[in-house]
Amino acid sequence: MKRCCAVTRCLWSNPVAGRRKMSHHISPNLSGRVAIVTASTDGIGLAAAEALGQRGAHVVVSSRRQANVDKAVSLLRSKNIKVIGTTCNVGKAEDRDKLINLTIEQCGGVDILVSNAAVNPFFGNILESTEEVWDKILGVNVKASFLLTKQVVPHMEKRGGGSVVIVSSVAGYQPMQGLGPYSVSKTALLGLTKALAPDLAHSNIRINCVAPGIIKTRFSAALWENESMLEEFLKQTSIKRLGQPEDIGGVIAFLCSDEASYITGETITVTGGMNCRL
Ligand code: NAP
Repeated sequence: MKRCCAVTRCLWSNPVAGRRKMSHHISPNLSGRVAIVTASTDGIGLAAAEALGQRGAHVVVSSRRQANVDKAVSLLRSKNIKVIGTTCNVGKAEDRDKLINLTIEQCGGVDILVSNAAVNPFFGNILESTEEVWDKILGVNVKASFLLTKQVVPHMEKRGGGSVVIVSSVAGYQPMQGLGPYSVSKTALLGLTKALAPDLAHSNIRINCVAPGIIKTRFSAALWENESMLEEFLKQTSIKRLGQPEDIGGVIAFLCSDEASYITGETITVTGGMNCRL
């Protein structure tokens, strides 16, 4: 009993409690693979690119702004990761084409797609959200994930198979207040993953989804900068800290690896123990 209380106290007071101990040696189980990660110049996408690169994958990073792409490429190169980069706003067909074409030309094919880009141009009462807001959110968060997946399939087939990971959110399970349309788009991604899995399996392509909880990035700053809101969120978690992008990157890399060879159509929630159910 005494020991149990000490453990509880430690979890409450220690901000790094529950954090994975990074091993110094990460096995290069993705060497020879080519990985496209969208929205990968910051936050979760950048952490996913790094995790894939550390495991030996040749990584293609992208986001809307060239300056961000350049920064991410040099950061990853400084960590000895094989990487190229280009601008790509996933909401634009010509940008998606450019991303895929560049990957094929410069890396010779594609084995992994991590569809991580999302936007949220609306905060407020869902009844006040406009058609434009819905078109934008569903277009970037859902439709582009599908279209990119469709576009990489023939290239993955040429390599004998592949792996797709889509980044959803805990908000896909329980809509967050003020974030109605965004939350609905994230629920749609859970459905998209399941809808695609059987057909992709014919081509030896697995597709899975990761639903992060509250991760400390710029995107979620409005949620964690406000102390009372942060406290409220931490009440809902078992591990009493915010997630870090690396907490998600490693899970994405696992799903892309052969260690996950019998997992498809699945969503892994990575939330520090927040309750997730539809
Ligand atoms: P972040 O740290 O703010 O990074 C966002 C990245 O997306 C940047 O590299 C940004 O670069 C890029 N980007 C934005 N719009 C884009 C577009 N239309 N096309 C391509 N790239 C775009 O965000 P994050 O928190 O890592 O979020 C990444 C994903 O995780 C999103 O799908 C989000 O919904 C999900 N997620 C986040 C949390 C969280 O708590 N942070 C929780 C659950 C799910 P540019 O500005 O150069 O485009």
